[in-house]
Amino acid sequence: MWLLKIAILVALLVIVRKAAAMHKAKNDPIADDRCVSCDSADLEMLTAAAYRCNACGYEGGSGRKVTPKPSASRLLNAPPPAGPESGE
Ligand SMILES: [Zn+2]
Repeated sequence: MWLLKIAILVALLVIVRKAAAMHKAKNDPIADDRCVSCDSADLEMLTAAAYRCNACGYEGGSGRKVTPKPSASRLLNAPPPAGPESGE
């Protein structure tokens, strides 16, 4: 029975640590000197707070979240496609 208690304790510890790490990641500012995807410092600065990674092609940075991609908002505002149930 003690083995089960230890297993539950370890599982709880893992969950708490993961939640703490997620909370920290959410509140930390996005670094603009390293790629968040591959951690490379080989970046081409697009603006003062946005970059394109030369190693993996990822585009990011703290300034990237300010300008959402137009395609995403177009998808959100698009009417839903007509389904087969529309004839009812
Ligand atoms: Zn990268």
